[in-house]
Amino acid sequence: MNHIYSLYICGMNPTKNNDNRAIAKMSIYDPPPERPSTLDCCGSGCVPCILDVYEEEYSRWNRRQNCEGDQLRRDLLSITKFKDYKIISFQELGNDVYMYTFAAIPLSKGRLPITDTQHVFVKSDGVIRPYTPVALSDNCSFDVIIKAYPNGKFTKLLLKKKINDIIFVRGPSGGIDYKGYESIVMFCAGTGIAAYLGLIRSILNNDKCDILLKLHYSCKTLNGILMRKTLAEYSAYWNCTVFLYLTRENNWSLCSKSFWYNENISEGRISHDIIEEIINQQQSLQTLWLICGNDEFNQFIFNELKIVNIKKDNIKIFHNNNK
Ligand SMILES: Cc1cc2nc3c(=O)[nH]c(=O)nc-3n(C[C@H](O)[C@H](O)[C@H](O)COP(=O)(O)OP(=O)(O)OC[C@H]3O[C@@H](n4cnc5c(N)ncnc54)[C@H](O)[C@@H]3O)c2cc1C
Repeated sequence: MNHIYSLYICGMNPTKNNDNRAIAKMSIYDPPPERPSTLDCCGSGCVPCILDVYEEEYSRWNRRQNCEGDQLRRDLLSITKFKDYKIISFQELGNDVYMYTFAAIPLSKGRLPITDTQHVFVKSDGVIRPYTPVALSDNCSFDVIIKAYPNGKFTKLLLKKKINDIIFVRGPSGGIDYKGYESIVMFCAGTGIAAYLGLIRSILNNDKCDILLKLHYSCKTLNGILMRKTLAEYSAYWNCTVFLYLTRENNWSLCSKSFWYNENISEGRISHDIIEEIINQQQSLQTLWLICGNDEFNQFIFNELKIVNIKKDNIKIFHNNNK
């Protein structure tokens, strides 16, 4: 039994379930430790011996499965009530895009119970907006990538805030179930990448999961690629390929000189022909199709997938705005 699947099944519709124990099941992927062979013990009387390490790890894992003593701080995040958080860092990533780190108050050890692709609701000065954490840390904080809009009700307010200012967070919500799929093809534009970073990381970190990942990420310019280094690291894995599309890079020959060695970058939009080729390559694979961009981008990709009769059930659109 692959543990990530059962966790996702439990977590599919958290908003409909107010039972904290059910929500607890949505924890991060947590497989049992691998049992060493008795031959793995070198026989030199090491302290601790590999076999003892295994027993200890196994009982710790067992306690976590029974929700005893894991480090998920369900007390610091609630689906129904906003809790106090503070801004502990922010950094401009470029083009009005910022990385914010929000931490629970009081600053605490442990992890927040948020799984990949889930979002949380952030409230400030009475305005509430959903955001998708891209990373969780062991001090009950999470990172979000936020694009600021000049007229944006929430982002305009957020930009005025300083380190240690208070905001309010509620969640988590959403999340996807990829049980039974052999491959996931992800399309995104701009900050839509936020929806996928956690998902990709957790699949790549799971040695037992061999789902093939293909990310097609559309950006305006080379400098506008968010988390470029992280994406380059992801593409070093055998089961992850990242394709980048630059739609408004006006000096292509100059820009192409600064591509990194394992980057797969092309000029222009994700076109009908490109999508056709992507679909052909997936023919023999049970594929989950994910889309996360603005409305126009989402509709275009969705229509292209529908034309070739990809079942609606296998397509998931992340609506990255509140309209
Ligand atoms: C489930 C979910 C997860 C989300 N995760 C993220 C995330 O991780 N990072 C992130 O940056 N945003 C994310 N969003 C979008 C976010 O919730 C806000 O909509 C966004 O930050 C704008 O809020 P605002 O109040 O500043 O703008 P608003 O006052 O709501 O809008 C003002 C104007 O800004 C422009 N605008 C607003 N949003 C968009 C958009 N998405 N695309 C193009 N133009 C827009 C429009 O011109 C709009 O008229 C997510 C949305 C959803 C539904």
